[in-house]
Amino acid sequence: MRRMDKPQDYHPDFESWPPAGTHAKPEWAADSWPVTIGRGIMGRCPSCGAAPIFDGYLKVHERCLNCAAPLGDMPSDDAPPYIAMLVVLHVLALFVVFFYKGYYHPGILMAGVLLAMLALICMAALRMAKGAVIGIMLKLGMKREDPNG
Ligand SMILES: [Zn+2]
Repeated sequence: MRRMDKPQDYHPDFESWPPAGTHAKPEWAADSWPVTIGRGIMGRCPSCGAAPIFDGYLKVHERCLNCAAPLGDMPSDDAPPYIAMLVVLHVLALFVVFFYKGYYHPGILMAGVLLAMLALICMAALRMAKGAVIGIMLKLGMKREDPNG
């Protein structure tokens, strides 16, 4: 398959990119921020919303299957786990406070169920955060410098 890195590879109209004298935004994810990030959170391509971002749990499609947005080139790196933990642990903190204040003491079985739920919620939050970060990166055009790096 031919590597397509520049917008002109997709649109014959782009003779030079970005157009002279402009700081043109990337063509990907042209919709508004809430739409772009919302699609990412839902695990859909932030650019078109018609195809999934992920090939499996967290593996990102190199190109969107529908619009060929360069999803795989977006360096989400450490941001998704950071965001996921920031959100999930704030909710967890509520349970910790309840526990220490003595409002709620789960039995051993319930504690196990809650721990399993926590793990599942963390996994779901991580996937949503990664989708959102890829949406943000795509909209900002923050492509990885070296696709193999
Ligand atoms: Zn797409």
